[in-house]
Amino acid sequence: MDLVEYQGKQYFARYGIPISPGDVADTVAEAESVATRLGYPVVVKAQVQVGGRGKAGGVKLAANLAEVTEHASNILGLDIKGHVVRRLWIERATDIAKEYYASFTLDRAAKLHLAMVSSRGGVDIEQVADTEPEAIARLHVDPLDGLSEQAARDVVTDAGLDAEAHDGAVDILLKLYRCYIEGDADLTEINPLTLTTDGRVHALDAKVSLDDDAAFRHPEWDDFADFGEIDERERLAKSKGLQYIGLDGSVGIIANGAGLAMSTLDVVNQVGGSAANFLDIGGGANADVMASALEVINTDHNVRAILVNIFGGIVRCDEVARGILAALDRVHIGSPIVLRLDGTNEIEARAIIAEYGSDQVLSEPTMIAAARRAVEIAEGRGR
Ligand code: GDP
Ligand code: MN
Repeated sequence: MDLVEYQGKQYFARYGIPISPGDVADTVAEAESVATRLGYPVVVKAQVQVGGRGKAGGVKLAANLAEVTEHASNILGLDIKGHVVRRLWIERATDIAKEYYASFTLDRAAKLHLAMVSSRGGVDIEQVADTEPEAIARLHVDPLDGLSEQAARDVVTDAGLDAEAHDGAVDILLKLYRCYIEGDADLTEINPLTLTTDGRVHALDAKVSLDDDAAFRHPEWDDFADFGEIDERERLAKSKGLQYIGLDGSVGIIANGAGLAMSTLDVVNQVGGSAANFLDIGGGANADVMASALEVINTDHNVRAILVNIFGGIVRCDEVARGILAALDRVHIGSPIVLRLDGTNEIEARAIIAEYGSDQVLSEPTMIAAARRAVEIAEGRGR
């Protein structure tokens, strides 16, 4: 789950990372009252899960009430890269002397955590990585050893932060590491990490991505889910207990087994199409599970065809076929469905589909043929 800035800052605050005082506002009137309470100048910030809000007009300084009214009116409802702003975060403005960058992520290839620190903050870090990679100091942290104060100091020094910012940055880096580890995050990022004109270091922005697999030990995360941006399709899938990941293509995918589901995505790509999702229905390809899976895919407006790829090992293909037809009785599905049922009882399964005799449900004998057919339909080239 990706947190929006103010949630990320609340998370940071638990670990003692300094942030500016502020509050949320969902209306212009709320923004005005929060700003008045905080005192001027303030910053009015769009709370959407996307970077580059500043450039898109979603972060504005306001010196007085009239400016808060103006900026809050403009930013609420603003569309930033497809995310419509419904909530603002208003905080006391900071007098910035310098903008830096600090983050922790997992380096899967190295099997270690990775700290990145740079004196080029407040800008797109991917761009810095492209154009001047030497401007980003990197430090691998072994999870068994943890992050020592000396190692934190070394990476801050390597990054070339101004001397007066060193102590503050080291302190924040140690806290950011604790937030990342104990807070079960996949990513904790501060951009910009600022040095203020009066010599303090603090977090002016927050990007936090929580590891969903750790949700069981964080009941407090439920509060975030109320506003954290979760894909609607993923929300529905989760409520139905399905392993689903939303993507942005036009071919809906249902497969049994994570490996087969991933291969199905690859094959759809191979024949020139693009998958709308990953969905693994596991071993239980019965009518209930099929109905749930089809229902979730049905809510996706980009889907033009659905590819069901089942390998019958323990699960029997004829049961799957009956499950699909039973599901179709229960939910209206907008797109044609292409089936590849292979393995145990595949002949019976194809007979069941043929007998059903609907041109909404098509059967193909192989994975590649089914993928081709689904992609042709999705692209309006055939049925
Ligand atoms: P992003 O564009 O989505 O990453 O949003 P940020 O929260 O990082 O804000 C973008 C930029 O706005 C920062 O890099 C700062 O330059 C500026 N900014 C944000 N807060 C303040 C503030 O309190 N004072 C000043 N002077 N500038 C700010
Ligand atoms: Mn930022």
